[in-house]
Amino acid sequence: MHAPAAVEVALAQARQALGSARRLLVLCGAGLSAASGVPTFRGPDGLWRQWRPEELATQAAFDHAPEEVWAWYRWRLEVVLAARPNLGHRALVRLAERRESVVLSQNVDGLLEEVWEEAGLDPARLAALHGSLRRAHCERCAVARPMSELPTDALPRCACGGRLRPSVVWFGESLQPRHLHLLAEEPACCDLGLAVGTSALVWPAAGALEILRRRSRPVIVLNPDPAAALPGDLHVALGAEDGLVRLLEGMEVRA
Ligand SMILES: [Zn+2]
Repeated sequence: MHAPAAVEVALAQARQALGSARRLLVLCGAGLSAASGVPTFRGPDGLWRQWRPEELATQAAFDHAPEEVWAWYRWRLEVVLAARPNLGHRALVRLAERRESVVLSQNVDGLLEEVWEEAGLDPARLAALHGSLRRAHCERCAVARPMSELPTDALPRCACGGRLRPSVVWFGESLQPRHLHLLAEEPACCDLGLAVGTSALVWPAAGALEILRRRSRPVIVLNPDPAAALPGDLHVALGAEDGLVRLLEGMEVRA
């Protein structure tokens, strides 16, 4: 546990790094939505009925028990629709308004997208790497549908007859090609990394920060857990909401 003074020093260093950054790469994870009451849906806390998330979020589970998989996603959707974006989401949007940046999110709750859209920011600068709980698409023709428009009492089907599935990246699946391209190309264009509420252990997303570190670019890690940061990182031992709000305090608006 850092002493409060250490947090203040780390914050000052992080603000300074932000102040001189030309282009920022942000990687965010479940910790960003924790203050909104969205659980991680991972590990023991992610248990649903008798299932573990790893058993439900797969193509094989959808093929063998589609009703169970749909019921789980319906439940998760209800959880995120009842949640509101927190001050951390809003601070991240303010940061993106002030700094040239790209945000790579590992969250599927759509909360950051909500405030991003409200602010009128370019959707191309926010990549939901793992998809969204709020959308479904047809397995056969790929047509996309908002989850809110789908019937809740039956397995939804597309007009073409194909099955609709949640538009999230399941275990064992690859990210979308455009996201893989972003992860490979963006770190070379950015001179500062910011990891928020993520242990940055999940590849290939974690690889984006690795590229920055190999290029000796600073990486700010906002996380109460010191294990989320590597030696050489600028570790700020605060949660995502508090950390982002504090990070932006006093930051000048760049014209
Ligand atoms: Zn279809």
